[in-house]
Amino acid sequence: MMAEVNNPFKMAQEQLDEAAKILGLDESMHEFLRWPQKEFTVRIPVKMDDGNTKMFTGFRVEHNVARGPAKGGLRWHWEETIDTVRALATWMTWKCSVVGIPLGGGKGGVICNPKELSEGEKERLARGYIRALADVFGVTKDVPAPDVYTTPQIMAWMMDEYETITRERHPGVITGKPLALGGSQGRGDATARGGVITVREAGKASGIELKGQSMAVQGFGNAGQFAASLGEELLGLKLIAASDSKGGVYCEEGINAKDLIDHKLKTGGVADFPGTTPISNEKLLELDCTVLFPSALEYTITKDNANNIKAKIVCELANGPTTPEADEILFKNGSFVIPDFLANAGGVTVSYFEQVQNSYNFYWTIEEVHERLEQKMSSAFQAVYEMHKKQSVHMRSAAYLVSVQRVAEATKLRGWV
Ligand code: GLU
Repeated sequence: MMAEVNNPFKMAQEQLDEAAKILGLDESMHEFLRWPQKEFTVRIPVKMDDGNTKMFTGFRVEHNVARGPAKGGLRWHWEETIDTVRALATWMTWKCSVVGIPLGGGKGGVICNPKELSEGEKERLARGYIRALADVFGVTKDVPAPDVYTTPQIMAWMMDEYETITRERHPGVITGKPLALGGSQGRGDATARGGVITVREAGKASGIELKGQSMAVQGFGNAGQFAASLGEELLGLKLIAASDSKGGVYCEEGINAKDLIDHKLKTGGVADFPGTTPISNEKLLELDCTVLFPSALEYTITKDNANNIKAKIVCELANGPTTPEADEILFKNGSFVIPDFLANAGGVTVSYFEQVQNSYNFYWTIEEVHERLEQKMSSAFQAVYEMHKKQSVHMRSAAYLVSVQRVAEATKLRGWV
């Protein structure tokens, strides 16, 4: 068999092609939506602690802004490429559309290894990135947020740099800020909370019992940690395995999610958590469990391991964890996949709430945030699930049909195509 192309942007285009076929999208609209509208590459000089200046490369891509300003996170990763950022920006367009928020799709990234940067170097890199792209960003233009290896503190430096340049207060120029600087209640666990809501709905829709059943979490960062604790708290799921880049742990009788989070905080990883046995990332994915949360990076479930996945529900908290070939296999084998841009849309949804609060300069309670998130996520799930039933396609195609239609309509109404 031919190897799958290891290019997330090609994958994003392939997924759209499939939806375009089913929707009968006209050729020029299809071509327009296959490519980002704008792309920026910048070089950022950063004074390092040792006195040398190091050059970093940064990207920002705006895929489609027909429905509103570009929105999407910033990844700091040593393997970042323009194609990864293009793919992620494209998925942001579909993500904002599927939850019905008036924003477009954007994404940014910097090629760097945050684990090797001091706090001071991170601050200078964050500020340098904003200085390089200050004209691109703006509340009404393009609004970044956290993603892989970027934090509320990094958002705070970036907001401050932007406000220093513009000499005005613009808290809504970036989301995922600390609460003290206009962040929203509930933004921290929003991605996982939204995902857990979709798991609950998937359980109801397909008659899968969740209470007392098992879950496995691949990737124990922000999304994965909260998925474990909220899966336990809200759905009564039992965590039987978790893994991160340094190792994995397994215990059939169950692992207390909060204790595992504390252990990771103290030791830097999940490995060696008392009462567990080690498990490889590959084996974790293939565990016989009710819910699997792929919560790390792209290319986790491929045609090579899809046939071994036994989870009844796969809730993709990561962006792009499943390849199109693997999708077909999971569908055929009866796994219920909640596709990434639906499953992890809770993060951007609360980012949108954050912006709304910033523009009113009036802030909501945690209960108000949860109630509105609940409403957005469950109605997005319902719309996708109905499409899945109506068209007899897997959930990812159904999510594409719902969201591409909306973006195409806005693009057409503007007269762009
Ligand atoms: N980075 C997150 C995502 O991939 C959140 C984006 C945002 O809040 O703008 O959905």
